[in-house]
Amino acid sequence: MKKKSLKTQLSLTIALVVLITVALISVLSNILINQKFKNYIAEQQKQKTQDIVSSLSQQYDRKTDTWNTDFIHTIGMYALYDGYIIKVYEIDGNSVWDAELHDMTLCTQVMADISERMQKKYPKINGEFTSKDYYLKQGLNAVGVVSISYYGPYFLSENDFQFLNALNTILASVGAISLFFAIYIGWVMAKKICRPISKTARMTKEIAEGNYEIRFEGHTGTIELDELVSSINNLASTLDKQEGIRKQLTSDVSHELRTPLTTIGTHIEAMIEGVWEPTTERLKSCYEEINRITNLVKDLEQLEKVENDNLKLNITSVKIEEVINTITDNFETEIYNKNLDVSVLGTANPISVDKERISQVLINLLSNAIKYTPECGKIDIILEDCDSSLTIQVKDNGIGISEAELPYIFERFYRADKSRNRKTGGAGIGLTIVKSVVHAHGGKVLVTSKIDEGSVFRVILPRK
Ligand code: ADP
Repeated sequence: MKKKSLKTQLSLTIALVVLITVALISVLSNILINQKFKNYIAEQQKQKTQDIVSSLSQQYDRKTDTWNTDFIHTIGMYALYDGYIIKVYEIDGNSVWDAELHDMTLCTQVMADISERMQKKYPKINGEFTSKDYYLKQGLNAVGVVSISYYGPYFLSENDFQFLNALNTILASVGAISLFFAIYIGWVMAKKICRPISKTARMTKEIAEGNYEIRFEGHTGTIELDELVSSINNLASTLDKQEGIRKQLTSDVSHELRTPLTTIGTHIEAMIEGVWEPTTERLKSCYEEINRITNLVKDLEQLEKVENDNLKLNITSVKIEEVINTITDNFETEIYNKNLDVSVLGTANPISVDKERISQVLINLLSNAIKYTPECGKIDIILEDCDSSLTIQVKDNGIGISEAELPYIFERFYRADKSRNRKTGGAGIGLTIVKSVVHAHGGKVLVTSKIDEGSVFRVILPRK
């Protein structure tokens, strides 16, 4: 099958629908008008003969027993022009006025004209000239007789035909004008609908070729098309973001790997070339760097998992206090080694969250608090429950974070005071995971901190 453009198909469909509608309206109105018109004409003819009879009746003067032939002549001639041939007789049969006697040629011509017109236009009605006699009465007395002959069962005068022709011309013109407008409006509509579709098609092609910055500006004026356009725009921006994340991740990972790999590389090279003795100390340093890389890879795996899994949270009713107790138990050794004072304050009703993901959030926050709080420090985990949300605070009196660094700590691979943190081994991913999970739950994480005084991390989870 030959493919047609959407624009052509829409224009043709609209034009076809209008053509059928106009044709149907024309045919139906023609039939109806013709039908009604015939009834009207038949009624008119009945009225006309009654008028002729009544006007003629008045032309007899009973006192003088005479007929006003001048008036009868006028009435007869008018009737003749209208297609009625009349003959007037006195009651005893004497002729008073006879159209045929008066002007035979005109009568024949009128009859011929009407017959020809009617047979041409209405051959089916098999009409012919017929005569009918009517008594001319004054009161109850018949004073004469009139014989009226006309083309029956009905006939249309020249004017009637002209009227019908004019009507048909108007209908045909209305049809033609509507068709023209239909084609024009159809074409304009089709163009309006097709333009954004063609544009989005071109856009998707460009997106497929890797141009993720492209966007459809403005509105189409059609709800469904606007939805299509905004989906394409979203698709482009999502791909753009993912592309950004991919590039950022590649550069971050290579940056993070470069330092430990260089250290290991130079150490081992020096030992192979005999510049350095392979002492336990040096091998331990290499092992630590390898450990750092292993931890980094683990963190990356976890980050990747969290960002993907956030799309499908496994929500259940969770008792947060129980989760916190399990976590603090797991950190028992670290807490004991640093002689930290950890307390859980407040209570909370069960909340609908993904238990595993929220546990990860609390593990990351508590492990940071333990990492960045010196020996004999204090850590409080405070629960604040209300109808609309649950707030979990992890508060420590540790080393704190400087004001300049606070805005960046949730960013991937960001470590405040890098030299200070190299020893701790963190890759700067823990808080990125915290933020990502809390956001996936529709909540938020806030932080306040002061250098050498401590930090407070606040996780606010909405109750849905
Ligand atoms: P890391 O693995 O390095 O701990 P995070 O993403 O968990 O990475 O944290 C980012 C940075 O924020 C850390 O390097 C640290 O400097 C800072 N930070 C996080 N939590 C605390 C805290 N409780 N006290 C002080 N600094 C913190």
